[in-house]
Amino acid sequence: MTTAHSPLHDPERDGGRWVPPLDFALETDRDALAKQAGANIHDDRAMFTAAVVLDLALRALVAAHDTRVGNSGVHSVRVPTPDHGDVTLPEPEWCLGHDGRPTEALADVHHSGRGHVVDNGGGIELRAEPVAFPYGETPVPVSVHVELCLPDVTLDPPGLEGLAAVLVEQAAELRRLALRLAVLRAGGAW
Ligand SMILES: [Zn+2]
Repeated sequence: MTTAHSPLHDPERDGGRWVPPLDFALETDRDALAKQAGANIHDDRAMFTAAVVLDLALRALVAAHDTRVGNSGVHSVRVPTPDHGDVTLPEPEWCLGHDGRPTEALADVHHSGRGHVVDNGGGIELRAEPVAFPYGETPVPVSVHVELCLPDVTLDPPGLEGLAAVLVEQAAELRRLALRLAVLRAGGAW
C-alpha cells in the first residue's frame, strides 16, 4: 500500500517563520501541551492535530532558544526607534525585554532588569533596578537605579531614633546592592 508522502516539517515550505522571544515561546508551549494532553490517542484526526500543533510549538521553542543563546552566546533584541528605525542590539541576560515599552530615541534606549523593593512601612521605601544606557552621549554601563522614598515627617525623639534605624537598614541594603552590581558587572546574575 502506498500513500502520498508529505513531511510533517518541510524547511522549504515552512521556512522563514517568526521567531518568538524565549519566554513567549515557553508560555505558548505550555498552553499547547495543556490543550493537547486530553487528545484521544485512538483518534487519528486528533493525533494528526496534536502532532502538527506540538511540532510547531517545539520548533518555535528551539528557534527561540537558539536565537537567545546564539553561536556567540549573545542574545539580540530588535527595538523600534523614531530616529534610527528598527535597531538590533545585544540584549543582556538580566534585561526584562523591550516589548510594551514606549518607543524612545536611540540615545534613550536602555535595558532594565528585575526591580528590588524594600518597604519599611510609613511610606519609606527603597526601589532599585539594574539599568544600562548603551547609546547615550555618555553611555552608562550596567548600574543600579535607586529611588529612596522618604516622606516629610515631624518626629519626637523615639520617632527620630526609629527613622535613624530605618536609614541604617537602607544603608545596609545599598551595600548589598553594590555587591550584587559588582557580581552582575563581573558576568554573574542579578
Ligand atoms: Zn534590554
